Amino acid sequence: MAYKIPRGCQDIYGSSSYQWQTLENTLRSICELYNYDEIRTPIFEHTNVFKRENDSSDMVNKEMYTFQLENSKTSLTIRPEGTAGVVRSFVENKMYANPDLPVKQYYMGPMARHERPQKGRLRIFHQFGVEALGEKSPYVDVETIVLAYTILSTVGLKDIKVCINTLGDDASRQAYRSALKEYFKPYYDQLCPDCKRRYEQNPLRILDCKVDHDLECMKNAPSMADYLNEESQTYFNTVLHLLDTLGIPYEVDDKLVRGLDYYTHTVFEIVSMNKEMGAQSTVLAGGRYDGLISYFGGPEQMSGIGWALGMERLLIALEAENGPLAEKPSLDAYVMCLDSEARTYAFEVVTQLRAYGFRAEMDMMGRSFKAQFKAVDRMKSRTAILIGNTEKDAQQVTIKNLKERSQETVSIDDLITKMDALLGEE
Ligand code: ATP
Ligand code: MG
Repeated sequence: MAYKIPRGCQDIYGSSSYQWQTLENTLRSICELYNYDEIRTPIFEHTNVFKRENDSSDMVNKEMYTFQLENSKTSLTIRPEGTAGVVRSFVENKMYANPDLPVKQYYMGPMARHERPQKGRLRIFHQFGVEALGEKSPYVDVETIVLAYTILSTVGLKDIKVCINTLGDDASRQAYRSALKEYFKPYYDQLCPDCKRRYEQNPLRILDCKVDHDLECMKNAPSMADYLNEESQTYFNTVLHLLDTLGIPYEVDDKLVRGLDYYTHTVFEIVSMNKEMGAQSTVLAGGRYDGLISYFGGPEQMSGIGWALGMERLLIALEAENGPLAEKPSLDAYVMCLDSEARTYAFEVVTQLRAYGFRAEMDMMGRSFKAQFKAVDRMKSRTAILIGNTEKDAQQVTIKNLKERSQETVSIDDLITKMDALLGEE
């Protein structure tokens, strides 16, 4: 029997793991500049953390990996997204009592959603996300958007569009909701089964439907902008003004509603314009949520904002724009062992090189000189250290500088100084 990875999953290894690490390192270091701490929550939570009353999203209704162990009454769900766990932890650990708000945290890791696998759409995928919890201010909104924009530009994604909208406060959204219900009533029969459910639960999400997207009735649907009360409008204007001030380009898209049900006020997406992305062009998405913290038992009226980016999608977009983000770094030294009696000496040499911070490898296969030399080539090593019985007996090493094609034999005591001199020059 053959063992195979489950559908919609990927192993990340070899040269691709260097791209992941480069991306992860950049994400971490930019978050540090913005004074975000890392939070790590469990990869499963009690199902009710994700499955909340009246949630009409596909993610919650159709895509969750939920399980219950035999002899257990506890239903658990592998996290499909990061926000719910972060907010659960924020409340459970009383982070809301922190004197410095908002509490700013980032997370990264695998998420699970049972979706039809496609390019840029997996069942186990990775998100990097941020949440700023506990203070509601347009400055906080814009700070998270600037962070998102900075991250994408720093990793090299240029061909992007920031789309932004507001869903207003509760009152504005209720007014819009009623208007949408009224509007879609005569078209109800044309809507897909999911949208029929959304019509009852959260008609805003009809605007986000991938199936009904091209229906004629979608084009003339009422716009959120016409239902915003003054407070919501002012809040949004300040957000846009701050974006202008900081020179962040954006487009207001008044049909942008986002996939989850808990959003209020500012919502945004960053889309890659690269043609290779197809239907999976949204790299990053997020928004403000007013009800979530109190839902989990935190203070009433406390608000949060966050976004998440799909790391696979970002890497696909980066590759399409610029080629690979990073490659495996070349070796500093490959230790070639030319006589089997000198193997232990070679082993000591490679260990010493590593102790002094050189990336070093040695032949473990007892291969011929020619075969070892091919390995040096494959690993793009900058030097080859030749070790045979002569070197062993004299406690020396022969260093071959592969760039200059020069070679010299030095005492083992001078190896590190010599290597520093050789490789430091470049
Ligand atoms: P979509 O509309 O593409 O299904 P979504 O609204 O479900 O996206 P979010 O829940 O907002 O996505 O997740 C944020 C980001 O995570 C997305 O913009 C995307 O980059 C990534 N993402 C979401 N689902 C997947 C998936 N199944 N595979 C890979 N990346 C994903
Ligand atoms: Mg989705």
